[in-house]
Amino acid sequence: MKTLLTLLLTLVGLAWGWDLMQAAPPTGAHPLWIARQQLLTLSGFLSIALMSLTMFLATRPGWLESPLGGMDRVYRTHKWSGILAVVFAALHWLIEMSSDVLKAMVGREGRVPKETFTGLLEILRDLAGDMGEWAIYAVLAMLAITLWKKFPYRIWRILHRAMPVLYLMLAFHAALLAPQGYWRQPAGALLAVLLLAGVYGAVRSLLGSIGRSREATGRIVAIEHPGSDLTTVRCHLERRWTGHRPGQFAFVTFDHSEGAHPFTIASADHGDNTVSFEIKSLGDYTGSLAQRLQTGQAVRVEGPYGRFDLERRDPKAGQIWIAGGIGVTPFLAWLESLQSRPDQAPAADLHYCTRDQQSDVFVPRLQALCASLPGVQLHIHGARQGNTLKAAALQGAQKAEIWFCGPSGLATSLREGLQALGARPRFHQEAFEMR
Ligand SMILES: Cc1cc2nc3c(=O)[nH]c(=O)nc-3n(C[C@H](O)[C@H](O)[C@H](O)COP(=O)(O)OP(=O)(O)OC[C@H]3O[C@@H](n4cnc5c(N)ncnc54)[C@H](O)[C@@H]3O)c2cc1C
Repeated sequence: MKTLLTLLLTLVGLAWGWDLMQAAPPTGAHPLWIARQQLLTLSGFLSIALMSLTMFLATRPGWLESPLGGMDRVYRTHKWSGILAVVFAALHWLIEMSSDVLKAMVGREGRVPKETFTGLLEILRDLAGDMGEWAIYAVLAMLAITLWKKFPYRIWRILHRAMPVLYLMLAFHAALLAPQGYWRQPAGALLAVLLLAGVYGAVRSLLGSIGRSREATGRIVAIEHPGSDLTTVRCHLERRWTGHRPGQFAFVTFDHSEGAHPFTIASADHGDNTVSFEIKSLGDYTGSLAQRLQTGQAVRVEGPYGRFDLERRDPKAGQIWIAGGIGVTPFLAWLESLQSRPDQAPAADLHYCTRDQQSDVFVPRLQALCASLPGVQLHIHGARQGNTLKAAALQGAQKAEIWFCGPSGLATSLREGLQALGARPRFHQEAFEMR
């Protein structure tokens, strides 16, 4: 994620700098007015570049899973490039608003002369200016509710649907108000590519075509409630389903008005177009899911996505697998897929962290699955039993590879603990939070 964002920011910086070196400074303009103009352009360019990337990533491009490390990471990059884009948009707006201060400081005489246009172009440029201003207010409000974690996700998601429209307004603003000289420079070429990518994302989002090519429909064939806050759903999908690798996830729609939620496919692929999900009631929708689902009900499954894939492990590194709570689901799929070929199971330590190991329904299941895999050592950590997992308990971590799925707080404390012990193992983490 950091590499992609840094690369984009660097490219924009270079294109902006190239134009700065080529263009003759405006005659008679005060250096402060020139600096304001250039910073206005740079902040706007950075903002629209990041926003275009955000919009493009929203199309869930499958080919980016490999370089970015999975669709959950693609979403993280989408989120952070969106946040950065709004920060630069706010800066752009503040710089625009600084003209009164500059007038008071150095006077209006030294202003950078405005580019002049006539006719329709003039009208469109005025409109683009207004549109940019309205859209900036809206994206700033969106950023505030995105960062305010208590804001209900459901409402956030509905409001978030306005983003493609806001993006198109900002793209219009950027295309019309970018310095005219840009269109003869590398800056213009870069801006054009970014706008095309962003408009493509916005239009696909408005048409509702994102993920269509990876979508399969089917029916729920079985529902179980192994625990008070847990629902197991088994679905049979039509032939369009291409199968999955253990550990992958899918966007599942049980109810059209609710839309898709991401869930790990908790079963191995047996080639029979059947997938299972273990769903914990963690919020508004999942809390009432048990009452809403019925056998025979239609289901839409988009995927599979994700790179939490056993086949990607480093065969030379020791394996430490850590599951926290419902983060056990990808490991269930891994263990199930190994049942038919136990000789290929790697030597691994599987740590399962739960609130109460006495009542946890996954404990007997994990024990049964691991019983036929002698290489996999299962360690149960029940918080109620006073056995929480600490970094020091991860033996051989120095030379191991860690696969983690669970609460981000647990991941952070283990990473910090390992660092304090001088161990820096490769840490693969499935992100269960997309907002
Ligand atoms: C890759 C991945 C795999 C997951 N696998 C499982 C699993 O196997 N079992 C399981 O129980 N849970 C899983 N989750 C978590 C599950 O998606 C959320 O618990 C569920 O969507 C919460 O919805 P809600 O409306 O009940 O909760 P809310 O309280 O509305 O939301 C809680 C949080 O869940 C996330 N979320 C909610 N709705 C969506 C959505 N439509 N799209 C994306 N994120 C959303 C957001 O981060 C939100 O802040 C997974 C999440 C991800 C990202």
